[in-house]
Amino acid sequence: MAHKRPIRAQSERPLAPTPANPPPHVYSSIGYDRAADKRDDRAFQAMALRDPESRFLVLHGLKPLFVEDATGPRPLFVAAQDLAAHRPEPPVFLGLHEDRAVFAVDLDGAVVEGGTYLELRSVGPNLAPGEAGLLAFARALAHWRLRHRYCGACGGPMVTLMAGHCRRCEACGFDTFPRTDPAVICLVISGEHCLLGRSRHFPDGMYSTLAGFVEPGESLEQTVVREIEEEVGIRVEAVHYRSSQPWPFPQSLMLGFRALAPLVEPVIDPAEIEDARWLHRSELLYPEKRPVRLPNPDSIARFLIEDWLYSS
Ligand SMILES: [Zn+2]
Repeated sequence: MAHKRPIRAQSERPLAPTPANPPPHVYSSIGYDRAADKRDDRAFQAMALRDPESRFLVLHGLKPLFVEDATGPRPLFVAAQDLAAHRPEPPVFLGLHEDRAVFAVDLDGAVVEGGTYLELRSVGPNLAPGEAGLLAFARALAHWRLRHRYCGACGGPMVTLMAGHCRRCEACGFDTFPRTDPAVICLVISGEHCLLGRSRHFPDGMYSTLAGFVEPGESLEQTVVREIEEEVGIRVEAVHYRSSQPWPFPQSLMLGFRALAPLVEPVIDPAEIEDARWLHRSELLYPEKRPVRLPNPDSIARFLIEDWLYSS
């Protein structure tokens, strides 16, 4: 099958050889072992919490602690002995990295020399994938813990079990576990065009793939069809799964799809999005000539667009 890439002049920027952020995407578990079997191993946990080789990732609420080096912000880890002066909530076991236990711990905003608490989302695109994945896991667990301080069944206080991966009501025994909300995200294609939309919350000029949360009783494919019809009034078909990305802002799993649609004018629902437009492949190929700004390179939205743009 013939490739459809245009011939480019020598002076123009070369095409990206592969899409940014290929699977496993940024914020996935990369380069460490979640070691779930160790969460209930009390002897291991007690030993690891004292082990000077263990590493503790510090958070304040949802913000991890970073240190700035020549390459930009890097996560700042502390050792067990550095926690002695604090009385944190029980650290959360994240797993093993190079045979060393890694925990997340909230020191209630304690000042750590050289460290700054930053939003993961603001630095995520510049982090190594392994670091971003570990921080994403820590942030998602912190978000869940902060919003499950009391029992959803009886309002009683919760205690932490399984090294931070379960909370149990002391009054009625109800257990709760970390949640992930499935959301679909889809690049709609019609021949050489793709359909991108913008939310009023986006930065100026940014357009992205359409997305929405899965409702109870719905398949992923049904969510894709419903969401796109709601947002732009277009009925898609040939819905194909592509890949997924944990998106801990705050607790989503983005399930990426492609779908086909007729090249008809979108009729937007202003309650959902601000604008939607078809863009021809030739308008997006060269970054400096794009009429819109694409989503950040750490997102599956960007991957879905570039995957089609450069590989089809
Ligand atoms: Zn309860």
